[in-house]
Amino acid sequence: MSSSTKTSQTGTNTRLAHSGFDPKSFHGFINPPVVHASTVLFPDAATIESRNQKYTYGTHGTPTTDALAAAVDALEGSAGTLILPSGLAAVTLTFLAVLSAGDHVLVVDSVYGPTRRFCDTLLGRYGIKVTYFDPLIGADIERLMRPNTKLVFTESPGSNTFEIQDIPAIAKVAHAHAALVAIDNTWATPLFFKPLDHGVDISIHAATKYFAGHSDVLMGTVSASKAAHPALLATYTALGFCASPDDSYTTLRGLRTLGVRLERHQHSALTIAQALEGRPGVAGVLHPALESFPGHQLWKRDFEGASGLFSIVLDVADETRRRAKAHAFLDALEIFGLGYSWGGYDSLAVHAHLSDRTVALAPAQGPVIRLQIGLEDVADLMADIERGLSAAQSA
Ligand SMILES: *Cc1c(COP(=O)(O)O)cnc(C)c1O
Repeated sequence: MSSSTKTSQTGTNTRLAHSGFDPKSFHGFINPPVVHASTVLFPDAATIESRNQKYTYGTHGTPTTDALAAAVDALEGSAGTLILPSGLAAVTLTFLAVLSAGDHVLVVDSVYGPTRRFCDTLLGRYGIKVTYFDPLIGADIERLMRPNTKLVFTESPGSNTFEIQDIPAIAKVAHAHAALVAIDNTWATPLFFKPLDHGVDISIHAATKYFAGHSDVLMGTVSASKAAHPALLATYTALGFCASPDDSYTTLRGLRTLGVRLERHQHSALTIAQALEGRPGVAGVLHPALESFPGHQLWKRDFEGASGLFSIVLDVADETRRRAKAHAFLDALEIFGLGYSWGGYDSLAVHAHLSDRTVALAPAQGPVIRLQIGLEDVADLMADIERGLSAAQSA
């Protein structure tokens, strides 16, 4: 796409504003058309037989989905991006495209819960063996590699507990064993971590989160290197995956403001994380940009920033009181909503359940509360968290 070539050397915010769609290609309109399509007409019988034209059928892409894919390619530095109807679909496509019966896959133990459910159910049924690895394993992943290991699936930072993985070290080992490396890059976005520059082959986003940014769209993207993209595309086509034109348009629209939104998410979240560190009632703050965080040095080495999602560990020594204290905290909140997903303008809180972990176990000090810091005023959010902490204290 000419507009992405033109902007490939520019700064991130310029790229966010201009990549993906060339207005000259559609009468000068600055945004792409929202093309609703199943049928695409061909000019004659010979062309329909050869399928030798840019668009052939709605499931194989439209000017709307192409614009979003090209914009994500410009950010990720990838050779191709596929657009899927949810973040989870983007994850599952990756496993299905890379793995076959008899293969082995390594998956980080702090992976997004539904990703784990997919691995523990479908992959088993298709004869694929899964091993969960310690997020802090680094180059030691060597000892888990088997001759049939075809994929190492990472998510850095990990869901709910935010462990930073040594992606370059893991990629080096994986590639030495001819395995591919995928990452769920939803937390960082390509603005704060560019996986392909660190040896990753496939970068996945729940575009539902920061890309779309307004808690009103479900969408996923899979961006890959030139070598990894064809297998993903073939499986995508075979499975009949595609995404709605309206949601693709809305996601691209969200992407245009990703830079300014993330700046605000980053600043507010870090301000709140710092204020909560060491506060009575809070046993720990799990935020990679805090110097006290175990993965902080790796985060500093590899990432350009931190987004707005982190967790706090409530200080509740008595295990039998943990659930009640966590619920008291959540029920006292007036601005934070209680609900899943994140990356929108609105602040959210949930009690993270970590009972499925086998290696990266839940913190010993108390319940983990995950906070999505939205775009509201920090003082109001802090006051809300104080309400929660007081309620947990007296519960
Ligand atoms: C939310 C999320 C997903 C799934 O995205 P959906 O669009 O809700 O299916 C995948 N990975 C991570 C890390 C997520 O937080």
